[in-house]
Amino acid sequence: MISHAPPGYDCPFCALIAGSETQRNSESDVVLRDAETTAFVSPKWWAGNPGHVIVVPNQHHEHLYEIPDGVLAAVYRTVAKVARAMRASYRCEGVSTRQHNEPGAGQDVWHLHFHVFPRNAGDDLYLRDLEVRWVSADEREPYAARLRAALADYPSALERDHHGREGSRRTDPRGGRA
Ligand SMILES: [Zn+2]
Repeated sequence: MISHAPPGYDCPFCALIAGSETQRNSESDVVLRDAETTAFVSPKWWAGNPGHVIVVPNQHHEHLYEIPDGVLAAVYRTVAKVARAMRASYRCEGVSTRQHNEPGAGQDVWHLHFHVFPRNAGDDLYLRDLEVRWVSADEREPYAARLRAALADYPSALERDHHGREGSRRTDPRGGRA
């Protein structure tokens, strides 16, 4: 089995999933928690993409190579939920995801995770790796609050946002649909 975690690895994501604060992650970062997955605002930000989110399986798996299909499906369902909530509540122009396996690919926490980035034209996400910085819990909190609010109302608020015109046509009391 391929693994880069040192013996006795003290996994920071497992700690957060279990409800412990760590040096990097706070309980106030968590925007979604279900039986199989946890999503939280990342403590490390790219300059043009503030408030990006990390989604992890609650079970510890190091990478994509051996993760069970069912767990992966649950993780990606949460990635999609976060993407929709991000699009609606951050009012960004788009959303990108990325995920790394092994140090050669840039992985540095040994628990499989997907990054979900808010995107805007010209943000140069893929060109600004050297400007990455750690941000305080206080700076992260307003982003987490916006996502929690959007996810608490999920999916109705997002349905209205994405399908508002169609929805209103369907419920037109005069039945004026052509
Ligand atoms: Zn872990």
